[in-house]
Amino acid sequence: MPKVVLITGASRGIGAATACLAASHGYAVVVNYLRNQLAAERVVAQIHDQGGMALALQADVASEQDVVRLFATIEQRIGRVAALVNNAGILAQQMRLEQMDAARLQRILSTNVVGPFLCAREAIKHMSTRYDGEGGAIVNVSSAAARLGAAGEYIDYAASKGALDTMTRGLAIEVAAEGIRVNAVRPGFIYTEMHASGGEPERVDRVRQSVPMQRGGQPEEVAEAILWLLSDLASFTTGAILDVSGGR
Ligand code: NAD
Repeated sequence: MPKVVLITGASRGIGAATACLAASHGYAVVVNYLRNQLAAERVVAQIHDQGGMALALQADVASEQDVVRLFATIEQRIGRVAALVNNAGILAQQMRLEQMDAARLQRILSTNVVGPFLCAREAIKHMSTRYDGEGGAIVNVSSAAARLGAAGEYIDYAASKGALDTMTRGLAIEVAAEGIRVNAVRPGFIYTEMHASGGEPERVDRVRQSVPMQRGGQPEEVAEAILWLLSDLASFTTGAILDVSGGR
């Protein structure tokens, strides 16, 4: 039986690249999406064309009801989740703190922190030996911003990823004896559509000189790191936060 991996926000960007790579490694992939069913179905079709297994399922990761329903549907349709990639995340328009309101921070925290919190909670019920599971692996997609702070641009987003890093370390220890590993990747500047929501679609090209490797990353380069952390090659790695940022 293939292992089931759930990748949140997988209709495009890093999530879509991770979905395709996971399928090529033999996982049965759940391509979660928020709104763009067509894009999610395109990822699924690409996986099917390459002989892989995939299924697109809608859920808002910030909604407790949606996440509970998502895990129940996965169990009914393809079996228990053995691997989870908490990839769904949002950014908002670049601005200084005094221009931000609390609603913006709450929106960001809902997706970037509450989402991974809910998905990890439900995943543990599928994976943990305490629930007759066979163990599993969780990878959270954080950001280099968690370490750097994103001053003058989006300190709220950076703070949300800082919370995700702390949750990664704590949860890793909490479930280590139950056969579950929890790690995070911290991408640097990656060429995806996310930068458009920060108000600057060409941002990676503008800032790439600040990267020691002098370039932005491709979604596939983050996907490789995620797949390694999910795999048995990382069998003694938990609570780790891996920078995938060209040295930034
Ligand atoms: P993206 O905007 O292309 O993808 C994010 C995906 O998450 C989208 O498909 C979106 O629909 C989905 N999503 C948003 N809210 C959701 C919700 N409530 N429920 C379900 N899905 C939801 O961006 P990306 O660059 O591929 O981002 C993926 C992850 O990588 C994010 O967590 C992001 O913070 C992180 N990241 C990206 C970069 C970068 O430079 N692109 C850098 C560091 C970290």
